[in-house]
Amino acid sequence: MIAVLKSGTTPEQTAHLINWLKHMNLDVHISEGQEFTVLGLIGDTSRVDMELLGSLEIVDTVKRISEPYKQASRNFHPDNTVITIGNAKIGGGHFSMIAGPCSVESQEQIIAVATSVKEAGADILRGGAFKPRTSPYAFQGMKEAGIKLLLEAKKATGLPIITEIMNIRTLDLFEDVDIIQVGARNMQNFDLLQELGKTKKPILLKRGLANTLQELLMSAEYIMSEGNENIILCERGIRTYETYTRNTLDLSAIPVLHEITHLPVVVDPSHATGKASLVPSMAVAAAAAGADGIMVEVHNNPACALCDGAQSLTPAQFADLNARVQRVREAIL
Ligand code: PEP
Ligand code: MN
Repeated sequence: MIAVLKSGTTPEQTAHLINWLKHMNLDVHISEGQEFTVLGLIGDTSRVDMELLGSLEIVDTVKRISEPYKQASRNFHPDNTVITIGNAKIGGGHFSMIAGPCSVESQEQIIAVATSVKEAGADILRGGAFKPRTSPYAFQGMKEAGIKLLLEAKKATGLPIITEIMNIRTLDLFEDVDIIQVGARNMQNFDLLQELGKTKKPILLKRGLANTLQELLMSAEYIMSEGNENIILCERGIRTYETYTRNTLDLSAIPVLHEITHLPVVVDPSHATGKASLVPSMAVAAAAAGADGIMVEVHNNPACALCDGAQSLTPAQFADLNARVQRVREAIL
């Protein structure tokens, strides 16, 4: 249930109301918009007298919301969330281009890719240090050493960095990481989500291979319910019966998510298609559909990449993609 307070309500009146609600064993989440304050009532609201609440002088409207996610819901938080990472912003009309290799492989590789994607206009550097691989015999990432190399690349280029966490035990290693990625396979690792909710780090939450958008938002809710509201959602393709592409990019997820949530939406056309030749068209399409950012895999030598070479762009291909995406952004403004 949400209660929208009238503009002009004083902090004392708000605090008084919250106190009253808390006495009914409800948790109250406050969202301060530009004009209105919205209170999200969390817990068993079945005994709340909606008429009584609605009749209070400071209450504008009371609504029961049917979605099981509350803090992630646009009903509850009408303004777009904007996530700021260094000089980059994502959401609410701000767009960020995230680029870099699937995995950090060596100092030479990550510095070379970081330098070239920066030159081509990337805002944020990606690179996996802990890799969730289908086979236990495949390259598992450079782990701690990989994070150290990403930090070197951050220092060398000034680009903020994003990298994936697989286990909360490694959280200390992410202290200087700017965005923590939760991969598709961990989207419903609820313990991990709750622990990340206790941090203040921006989290990029990828949609699971076979998850609905409601499930994606429930996972975001796990993080938000612990206090961390800095979440970026990522559509990276879902599994369908089509096998030509690695996954099927659900482009409609972008406008749907914008309707039902205030959280920014980034699209990853690399894992969605699995083929470098298809990545630019899908990046352009995602920008046209209103994505708040694009994340693409770029490698200085895709043929020799230790992971996901087939879907990795060369730096020159990335520069071309970025220029096209920026033109689309200007066209739809
Ligand atoms: C990745 O971004 O490197 C990755 C493993 O992606 P996903 O979790 O979407 O498969
Ligand atoms: Mn990858």
